[in-house]
Amino acid sequence: MTLTLTGGRLIDGTGADPVERATIALEGDRIAAISGSAKNRDGDIIDCAGLTVLPGLIDAHAHLGLVFDFGGDPGAMSPAEIAAQTFRNCELCLDAGFTTVRDMCGVDGGLVRALASGLVRGPRVYPSGPAIVQTGGHGHINGPFCFDDHYVAIPGLVQLTAICDGADQVRRQARLNFRRGATQLKAFISGGVVSTTDRLEDTQLTVEELRAAVLEARARETYVAGHAHNNQAIRNGLEAGLECFEHGTMLDEATAAAMARANAALDPTLAVTQLLAQNWKEWKLPESVVPRIAGCERMMEEAMRIARAAGVLIGSGSDLLGTEQNRRGLELTLQARVLGAMEAIVCATSSNARIMHQEKLFGSIEAGKLADIIAINGDPLAQPELFDDPSRVVLVIQGGKTVKNLL
Ligand SMILES: [Zn+2]
Repeated sequence: MTLTLTGGRLIDGTGADPVERATIALEGDRIAAISGSAKNRDGDIIDCAGLTVLPGLIDAHAHLGLVFDFGGDPGAMSPAEIAAQTFRNCELCLDAGFTTVRDMCGVDGGLVRALASGLVRGPRVYPSGPAIVQTGGHGHINGPFCFDDHYVAIPGLVQLTAICDGADQVRRQARLNFRRGATQLKAFISGGVVSTTDRLEDTQLTVEELRAAVLEARARETYVAGHAHNNQAIRNGLEAGLECFEHGTMLDEATAAAMARANAALDPTLAVTQLLAQNWKEWKLPESVVPRIAGCERMMEEAMRIARAAGVLIGSGSDLLGTEQNRRGLELTLQARVLGAMEAIVCATSSNARIMHQEKLFGSIEAGKLADIIAINGDPLAQPELFDDPSRVVLVIQGGKTVKNLL
């Protein structure tokens, strides 16, 4: 089975200059060859003249299954409704040009199996399962005076967090997450915006607790990512062996230098930071998040500049929540304002693949890699806001299969 894309302007995801009128030959699920000129080939041809051809985008911080009211009545939404909304988010994600996501807490391997069945259209998903959190930390969602913690926890579908105190509980939860299909772990190591009983400045989970998660991850040849807004949390995470830090809002030069020395990555999340202030109600969050998010977007932009200057690997994560997750590409638009459009594309393709340890498999348009390719109508280098408009993503090929074609 061969498919050839001809005539498009190729941005390959490595940061190399665009190639005009590129020919990309696909063979089965892989990219077979790339050349500057069209040759006669067997099989189907898609004419991409006038389009920009890019690697399938990657969102390194998704929450496809966080469609319910975290703090409210856990029985208010049926598992069927939660599944339906999650599947809807999967479709929206794919149609926006995201062929892969790293889910940073919520869904587990159950969703991966549903996608693999072909009954649900969606991205390739790398789930974390429930995030590992401490009592009273970010993600301990019920009010502090409730008698009994109760929250949505549906094995095979979704669970926001798992409360763990002590290395033994962390170890057990890590093993359970892996049993249910997690491909990496996520720990909340600082306070969070969507919290009611902590501050962004707080550190959470001890180095000893985090080390237990890291050892379990390493036993599976994978890694732990940490939700961290402040520097001490990142330093604790580095001491324990975490490889990737989400948000990084308050990052300073010294901590960025320590991250670079440890080859740890920063995964900024600008889209959620901008959208929370307007969407908190729709996302079923308490109004108290509004003052907590104020100023975070500017700080996160500065953190990205500091990380880049220190040589830290920078990824790209939308952190979208709720139903109708249709603004995933906003992350690239916002990141482009700080890093430029080409670097924003690299963050959301090859750098995210590196963060996920999958750079041999996808993340760039190079011979031998999975054929995850999209075409955008227009020039996203000149207009990065095109990423935020799924109708401009006119072609999506995932693993060699055409999964969206508006041409
Ligand atoms: Zn998140």
